[in-house]
Amino acid sequence: MRLNKRDMKIPKQMRKYCPSCHKHTTQKVMIEKVKPRPKTKKGALKWGIRHYAKISAGYTPSPRPIVRDKAKTSRRANIKYQCTVCKKMYFKQNPVRQKKLEQV
Ligand SMILES: [Zn+2]
Repeated sequence: MRLNKRDMKIPKQMRKYCPSCHKHTTQKVMIEKVKPRPKTKKGALKWGIRHYAKISAGYTPSPRPIVRDKAKTSRRANIKYQCTVCKKMYFKQNPVRQKKLEQV
């Protein structure tokens, strides 16, 4: 199955060139989800976070600019491929900007 460049729907499996097998193999397609920053106790003890909390405490505003309305509405999705033969994973190089991505 060939993929259209601007297609928002991607298949769960597809035949693609595997860089480690040096030939076309069936590969699993996965969309990597962007995880938010972990708010663990260990991270809260770091100097930078303590310093930031000290500055922005009280009436003083945040020293870093708050991005309220972003210019870009789309983002590059991290598409991961896993070869079913050698089980190696690799990311798609330079993915296209998309608003929505679906797996069919
Ligand atoms: Zn492979």
